[in-house]
Amino acid sequence: MYKTAEIAYFTMEIAVNEDIPTYSGGLGMLAGDAIRAAADLKVPLVAVSLLYRKGYFFQRVDPREGQREEPVNWIVEDSLTELEPRIHVAIEGREVAVRAWQYLVHGAGGFEIPVLFLDTDLEENSDFDRTLSDVLYGGDSYYRLCQEIVLGMGGVRMLRALGCNGLQRFHMNEGHSSLLTLELLDEHLALRKDGAVMAEDIEAVRKQCVFTTHTPVPAGHDRFPMELATRLLGEHRAFELEEVFVWNGQLNMTYLALSLSHYVNGVAKKHGEISRHMFAEYKVDAITNGVHVATWASDPVMALFDRHIPGWRDDSFNLRYALGIHRSEIQNAHQLAKNQLIDTLNREINAGLDTAVLTLGFARRFATYKRPGLLLHDSERLRQLSREVGALQIVFAGKAHPQDQPGKEEIKHVLDLRETLRPDVKIVFLENYDMAMGRLLTGGVDVWVNTPLPPMEASGTSGMKAALNGVPSLSVLDGWWIEGCIEGVTGWAVGDGQTESGNEHDDGQDAASLYEKLEHDIIPLYYHDKDRFAEIMRHAMALNGSFFNTQRMMLQYVLKAYFI
Ligand SMILES: *Cc1c(COP(=O)(O)O)cnc(C)c1O
Repeated sequence: MYKTAEIAYFTMEIAVNEDIPTYSGGLGMLAGDAIRAAADLKVPLVAVSLLYRKGYFFQRVDPREGQREEPVNWIVEDSLTELEPRIHVAIEGREVAVRAWQYLVHGAGGFEIPVLFLDTDLEENSDFDRTLSDVLYGGDSYYRLCQEIVLGMGGVRMLRALGCNGLQRFHMNEGHSSLLTLELLDEHLALRKDGAVMAEDIEAVRKQCVFTTHTPVPAGHDRFPMELATRLLGEHRAFELEEVFVWNGQLNMTYLALSLSHYVNGVAKKHGEISRHMFAEYKVDAITNGVHVATWASDPVMALFDRHIPGWRDDSFNLRYALGIHRSEIQNAHQLAKNQLIDTLNREINAGLDTAVLTLGFARRFATYKRPGLLLHDSERLRQLSREVGALQIVFAGKAHPQDQPGKEEIKHVLDLRETLRPDVKIVFLENYDMAMGRLLTGGVDVWVNTPLPPMEASGTSGMKAALNGVPSLSVLDGWWIEGCIEGVTGWAVGDGQTESGNEHDDGQDAASLYEKLEHDIIPLYYHDKDRFAEIMRHAMALNGSFFNTQRMMLQYVLKAYFI
């Protein structure tokens, strides 16, 4: 496995299964789905991430106080296998020992891809260094840079220690792992006698590296003061190359990855454009994200595929042939998935939901740019729609980053309106949104709602999970939905898509458009024209499921970035 690996995929977070809480949201889900697709396609790849013994956090939600965070308790030994090698990285002059835990991802045909979780919780390390594998996106910039040294530089060393000598490409899934470029440069410099770093050294590293940028939101782009960087990393001779390694006196992980990769991409067509504006001096392509079909299809929908679409696990393009499945079968499979969701919620949290009522879903990280409150912008209008046009119920879920006060306020806002709208619109907020819940929700609601503030949603993926389950989206035209939305065929657009940067986006206008679509299209179809609603479900599944999946995405990485 290690000797034959040709691609190394580096990521700060990854969701490999429901029991391993080493992810915060879309970035980690995407990494997991990418690896699962690579295993289906037998791409010789190995993935590297960090272990987080306390996870991201466990979310509790209290009506008065909003979100509270608790460490997640999980037993590493039960889920992962410890590997033998120990490597060291130098941090501020300390030699920090690192080990790796292995998880094997199995493809549809049995091909295996190892995922390495790097861990510093070893006796020989100081108490502080042992905490470096505690939490994801916690701590200050000192803590974060230490983690990124372990991930980027430690990751390359661990791969070498495991015998990975045939690696052709290093893929940085977002900039957190950019320091791997420094390690590759050191490997290269070690091959010849001492001297300054030359253009050909930089070129040799560039040939090996691939970078995917995932967000236009500034918090997603790590920067460290150069003073901190040199304190932790030492006076590396590469730092003399200011145009590559130093930006405005900072070590900028995004620019580092941009400068040292031969292929760079954004994660949807629109996001590629936005990124070309942000990083005008670089060539930036686009590969639109996807989701892994066998991971996100509900049990009843998997059974439906098994009956009608032979080979769908090996080849997701086959979802196209959902066009030949009778509408009533799609409806029935969906109703079963919906019953599963609602029975679970009623049993476990006494949600009081009704399986016959049109159910909207909104679940993702609670960041302000995702505008979780937009659906509730005019609560009286929503109440009136539910009373007079057709009954509505809404399921919300999602975590706010522990330091994101405005994001936490959004959660409280939803909890407040839950009371206001009782009993006309039943609103449920599910605690601790995770992978298992994501699967239940995206397959079980009737319409998936997404309302980001353009152009901040680079891609978004949960609407893709919904689509392959036959659940259409009602979404703002941003990210993947610009490509996936055919109005009234695969779902519905909120607003008119005039999202060129500079244009003010008005919450009131977007909310009004959303209510219009509910009033004139969605609610009437759902209650009075089941056949046409089912036709839209079928198109969501066939047209969007067959394209917005990670098998297609991984093939594009293979063709454009890995093996060229
Ligand atoms: C899919 C998923 C996400 C990402 O959702 P987006 O729509 O891309 O924001 C986040 N969290 C969980 C648990 C998910 O399943």
